[in-house]
Amino acid sequence: MKRTKIVATIGPASESKSMMEKLISAGLNVGRLNFSHGTYKSHEVLISHLREVARKMKVDIAIMQDLQGPRIRIGEVAPAGIKVSKSKTIVLVPEKQALPSKTPNLYIPIQYPTLYREIKVGHPILIDDATIELEVTKIKNKAIYAKVVTPGVIKTHKGMNFPKSAIRCPAITSKDWQDLDFGVKNGLDFVALSFVKDATDIIKLRKRIFLLENKYHRNKAESHYQLEKPKAKGKIGGVHMRIIAKIERREAVDNFDSILEVADGIMVARGDLGIEMPFEDLPLVQKRIIDKCRKAGKQVIVATQMLDSMIRNPLPTRAEVSDVANAILDGSDAIMLSGETASGKYPLKAVQTMTKIAAEVEERLIEEQELKEGEFKNLSSITQIMSFMAQDLAEDVAHAKLIVCATTSGFTARNISRFRSKVPVIAIAPAKMTVNQMSLSWGVDAYYVPFTSSFDILLKKIKQVLLKHKLVEVGDTIVVVAGHPFGFKGQTNLIKVEVI
Ligand code: ATP
Ligand code: MG
Ligand code: MG
Repeated sequence: MKRTKIVATIGPASESKSMMEKLISAGLNVGRLNFSHGTYKSHEVLISHLREVARKMKVDIAIMQDLQGPRIRIGEVAPAGIKVSKSKTIVLVPEKQALPSKTPNLYIPIQYPTLYREIKVGHPILIDDATIELEVTKIKNKAIYAKVVTPGVIKTHKGMNFPKSAIRCPAITSKDWQDLDFGVKNGLDFVALSFVKDATDIIKLRKRIFLLENKYHRNKAESHYQLEKPKAKGKIGGVHMRIIAKIERREAVDNFDSILEVADGIMVARGDLGIEMPFEDLPLVQKRIIDKCRKAGKQVIVATQMLDSMIRNPLPTRAEVSDVANAILDGSDAIMLSGETASGKYPLKAVQTMTKIAAEVEERLIEEQELKEGEFKNLSSITQIMSFMAQDLAEDVAHAKLIVCATTSGFTARNISRFRSKVPVIAIAPAKMTVNQMSLSWGVDAYYVPFTSSFDILLKKIKQVLLKHKLVEVGDTIVVVAGHPFGFKGQTNLIKVEVI
């Protein structure tokens, strides 16, 4: 069983049900929908296809909504893009402004109408993960004239970066709020927020999620959600859409500790991060972020350009293979594919490649973790102590086949997951959303069991589920972890060694 989770962006190259089925068989755990692209109609189709395929395959996957954030993008250009060559001057104009009829230069629409006020002559403009570079030479009549420094083909809706300019765009745009409404309404499991600056962005988002969940799901079957009021600092107990903070600006690295405190998980979005800070800082920032996430028992995803060359080629470069392996060895819960599965030529091969690398290096990771598991103890609460003891007991004393945790929001399972235990973890949850959300936690598989307040009945049901899915045989030992009494949010306080 592969324990590292794979997040794959769904786009034109992966939108058919048959491709989705292949990707899930190959190891996809979380489907990511990038709301910088597509329409509500097209996203609705992707969501229903993903769910239909997963249901048919009897697997639980999660769907992650990725909000565009304050990203300035190219507007709509011809499908083939606009080729710009070195030293030529091109003109960037607000998208809705009519283009001059005589066009001696190349006119390119952009989606941020006031950019001309916030950028200065001499400033660089980077396009499409900085593969194209311009330098501003003149600003006149709301148009920005720029010389091409690094040539390329500019395509519709590609992202832009302005490393030297102070851009005054709100952290969460009106489009993001509207998109979030769509995401909550459709019951998506995760939302990823782009270009997070500090903890307040997350707290604002959390409050809105709570309001929207109450609006759309208050009367829905308890089996999916279990709603609970938000607590101080934007933290919420119970089952909710979970927030992934994308770390892709320098401010987010500076404010990382406070962001981690209020977010549910983190994405190391290396594309923009490598533009906004010196790229040589990336490897150590990645390691530091992963370490902190694990100490906090929160999920971390390493993203961007992991198998970039597979957008065009059926085989990865040796450097990419090492990068994927190193992200796993650093202790990442999940690794992510973007253009590789969204618009590349070899989406299936990309997922298969990740699975193959994961299977090969995980064993080594588990061995290494045994030596340094104390580092991740962070024994500041009873849940954390119990989690540590449960995995220690399962590995060393009971030689258990599985660690099974009964969990409502998934908190206990996430706490155990961070030890990267040799013994697989099974989460048993009374909410289907929690089951889906476990798709992002390293080494955790999850099953739905309706709520029961009796431990004996729960234990019986757990055994039935494990036997039904052939996860255990009669005579196997399992370690069960739970919080008792059930139905009260509180701590994990029960460990039981059970023989099937
Ligand atoms: P970001 O800067 O947020 O990473 P991106 O443009 O690089 O945005 P990816 O998620 O990396 O986007 O996806 C790669 C490409 O796949 C996109 O540039 C786009 O051309 C295409 N794509 C992704 N999702 C969709 C979609 N839902 N509909 C159409 N095209 C899509
Ligand atoms: Mg982005
Ligand atoms: Mg990208």
